[in-house]
Amino acid sequence: MPVPLLDINRQHAPMLADLRRVLDEALSTSRFIKGPALDSFESAFTSYCGTSRAVGCASGTDALILALQACGVVPGDEVVTIPFTFFATAGSIVRCGAVPVFVDILPDTFDMSPAALAAWLAANCERTDGGTVDRRSGARVSAVIPVDLFGQIADMDALEALARDWGLALVEDACQSVGATWCGRKAGAFGRVGCFSFFPSKNLGALGDAGALTTDDQALADRLVRLREHGGQGYYHSEVGTNSRMDALQAGFLSVKLARLEEWHAGRRRNAAFYDTAFAGMPEVVTPVIDSRAGSIYNQYTIRAKDRDGLLAHLRAAGIGCAVYYPLPLHLQECFAGLGCGRGDFPASEQASAEVLSLPVFGELTEGELREVVDSVKGFYTARHQC
Ligand SMILES: *Cc1c(COP(=O)(O)O)cnc(C)c1O
Repeated sequence: MPVPLLDINRQHAPMLADLRRVLDEALSTSRFIKGPALDSFESAFTSYCGTSRAVGCASGTDALILALQACGVVPGDEVVTIPFTFFATAGSIVRCGAVPVFVDILPDTFDMSPAALAAWLAANCERTDGGTVDRRSGARVSAVIPVDLFGQIADMDALEALARDWGLALVEDACQSVGATWCGRKAGAFGRVGCFSFFPSKNLGALGDAGALTTDDQALADRLVRLREHGGQGYYHSEVGTNSRMDALQAGFLSVKLARLEEWHAGRRRNAAFYDTAFAGMPEVVTPVIDSRAGSIYNQYTIRAKDRDGLLAHLRAAGIGCAVYYPLPLHLQECFAGLGCGRGDFPASEQASAEVLSLPVFGELTEGELREVVDSVKGFYTARHQC
């Protein structure tokens, strides 16, 4: 029996009428961009995240770029992040004219290692009147972007303290973590600003591209509202922004889906618990490690597997959807060769890239499908032992 990695149709089936109503509303009012639909999504998303403001935009990538610009990152600055993440985290830094600096992840949670960030800052940076400066390059270090990878928030106690000590803007890349918690607070509530993606395959997915930013800083939110529309109000521009508006349609679809998000998270957690139990005691599989302060929403259920590529081929041949997020860490990508990093620089990230495999975890999976995935994984290692 084949098992898909994700089947969005199953999620949409019980709310097709509600989704169609959003389209009808747009057709009858001809409000296709922003408008009341965006206002009501922003207000619902604000309450959901527990922040004082939410600002919709066109994608998660744009959210990161807008956040960095609003936090005052300017060309030539350095911005610290991790190499084991989706490309956009580092790509957005370069799109702002800044230079990405990588620090390694924690090997168990895959999130930014506070110790690695502290060590890099202590070894290379000093505080001056102009803020934190990298002694090697002379560049200002203006921001840090921890990523809440796979649905688990990074160690925000330690990372917020470091950002405060060194005067860095903390931009939370929460693109995989709508609804995840850290010490009871939701993703998007950490640092100066949180960035979200509603790409269709994310745990809260639009029917196209969309993104959002969250913050408790009213002035910052007002600036984000201007920046997403050419940096102006009407035809008067205080600075140069871009066109990153959210469609009214996407805002309407997202409001419909947000109302069911907790139900889907419960399904994801149930499925993750099923796998955790089924794989417990298997020496070849390491199940996700969740910090005791974190509540994961399992945007991905990512294991570390012995002979990962063999297991991947075996599952694919059996029709089981699975994927490697991410096969090549960003410091080894061709486009970042100029940064001068090499193999061995970030061992935990490199090891994760070689060992990780994400299994189907979406909320509507049946128990039969979960069993099928487990049996296929176990079958692979049993066969291996026999040769
Ligand atoms: C999906 C994602 C993004 C980018 O979001 P888009 O909406 O696809 O632009 C950025 N960072 C991370 C960690 C992501 O998973």
